[in-house]
Amino acid sequence: MIEFKTKVLTTTILDPRENFDRKEIETEIRIDPLIGESSRLAHFGRLNPQKEDFSSWDTPENRSRCPFCPTNIEKITPRFPPEHLPDGYLHKGETTLLPNISPYDQFSALAVMSREHVVPLEKLSPHLLKDAFEAGLEFFRIIAAKKYELPYYTIIWNYMPPSGGGIIHPHQQLIISDTPGNLFRKALENSRRYYQAHRQSYWKEICRVEKEKGQRFIGELERSCWLTSFAPLGIMGEFLGIFPDVHTIFDVDETVVDELISGLERLFSYFISLNIYSFNMGLFFAPAGTEQYFSLHLRLIPRLYLNLVHRPSDINAMQMVLQEPFTVVYPEEQCAELRPFW
Ligand SMILES: [Zn+2]
Repeated sequence: MIEFKTKVLTTTILDPRENFDRKEIETEIRIDPLIGESSRLAHFGRLNPQKEDFSSWDTPENRSRCPFCPTNIEKITPRFPPEHLPDGYLHKGETTLLPNISPYDQFSALAVMSREHVVPLEKLSPHLLKDAFEAGLEFFRIIAAKKYELPYYTIIWNYMPPSGGGIIHPHQQLIISDTPGNLFRKALENSRRYYQAHRQSYWKEICRVEKEKGQRFIGELERSCWLTSFAPLGIMGEFLGIFPDVHTIFDVDETVVDELISGLERLFSYFISLNIYSFNMGLFFAPAGTEQYFSLHLRLIPRLYLNLVHRPSDINAMQMVLQEPFTVVYPEEQCAELRPFW
């Protein structure tokens, strides 16, 4: 019932690398089985992510200008008003949760994850991740108890500059809203339609079908399954972590957080092996009342500069103007490459 639609197009060039002989080049267009929108796999060979020298970013001068470094954080970052959080902040381990001085929404918070200014993937340890996720969940539950009638909860994360992260110091973003954002909205609407048509949860079904097919099934943990996305959103693909039987912010207990981190750490090992050091993350919680058809899930999208000479962004007119994601890797090949890290 889940459809994996794909179309392969061919273009012909006279190839200068082969004496201007005719050469056919393929492009594959895929339709995301839930969202219904196209992505393309353009086969111009694999990009080679380049290692960055982080030491040039981690200088006393940069730290002194960073609002999230320990000497600055309480002086120059905002605090919550007492009706939201009586102490102004929420602390958990190294995490400090504070309101975004440039908010995206009525509730737009940041979880500053570390005391260190620069935390490369190798040092993004389970305890740093756990404190951040748990602080975020605690914040969500505190605000939920106040009954603002805001149904959509998301944790998003721009990690390192290629992802669009403006401040190197690691911080996740927490958004509570009545406007979920286009991708979350489409995922919800189409999950509901799928349930109405088939009397089954799309999220349970995609895990079952992908496990059966095997091509994009990275592996599973106790309550989650991990996939490469059929129609990825990023140039180096997209990874999904799905908890079919976990739904709202109230369902996420410590074992779910631990499992989420365990999955992330495995993906990070794979990223490190490829010199990928940046990503966007989205963690989507089911709004109350959608438990039958919507599940907690994570999207992780590697980001990179196309090269380190001029640092071109991996987002260009294809994605911005045509709203068309493209990917230079096959999700099926990437999955096979990733499995040893699982
Ligand atoms: Zn800092």
